[in-house]
Amino acid sequence: MAQPIVKIGGHEDPFAMEKEVYWYLNQLGIQENIHLTVIFTSIIPKGFDGLTVSRKILGNGYQVLMVRINKALVERQQQKVLAHEMIHVKQYAKGELKLLKSNTVVWLGKKHRLSKIHHRGPWEKEAYRNDHVLAVQQRQKPDITTLASFKSKADSLVYMREVQH
Ligand SMILES: [Zn+2]
Repeated sequence: MAQPIVKIGGHEDPFAMEKEVYWYLNQLGIQENIHLTVIFTSIIPKGFDGLTVSRKILGNGYQVLMVRINKALVERQQQKVLAHEMIHVKQYAKGELKLLKSNTVVWLGKKHRLSKIHHRGPWEKEAYRNDHVLAVQQRQKPDITTLASFKSKADSLVYMREVQH
């Protein structure tokens, strides 16, 4: 059975971070075939706290996604940036957001040039609207075993509906 694959880099507690990332995948209803690498690094474009890119689709259908988090940020801020980037992961995984070329994305079927609207693309609205609440929920999460007993998909659909107006 296909499911997301997660790798963590540059973090002192990769196991705990992996659990966090799986919590987000569950909460956001991401069950698509993605190969997700989350790297905590200082090698990040100037002015960025974090960024998510879709690299390619593998022969087995898995979409390769890479999240970078600026590790110069304080921990609380890194948590919020991760929540923000995980919303972009959701957008890529579900095909709402697609990278066409390095400077062109398709959001809900409409092309956008990245150069002019970099932080203001409509896909950012959803991310900025929800990243804080999502990060708080993550910190207050019930034990992961309890979480697994939830009907995660139904819960996340309700969540997404609540946050979309
Ligand atoms: Zn963003």
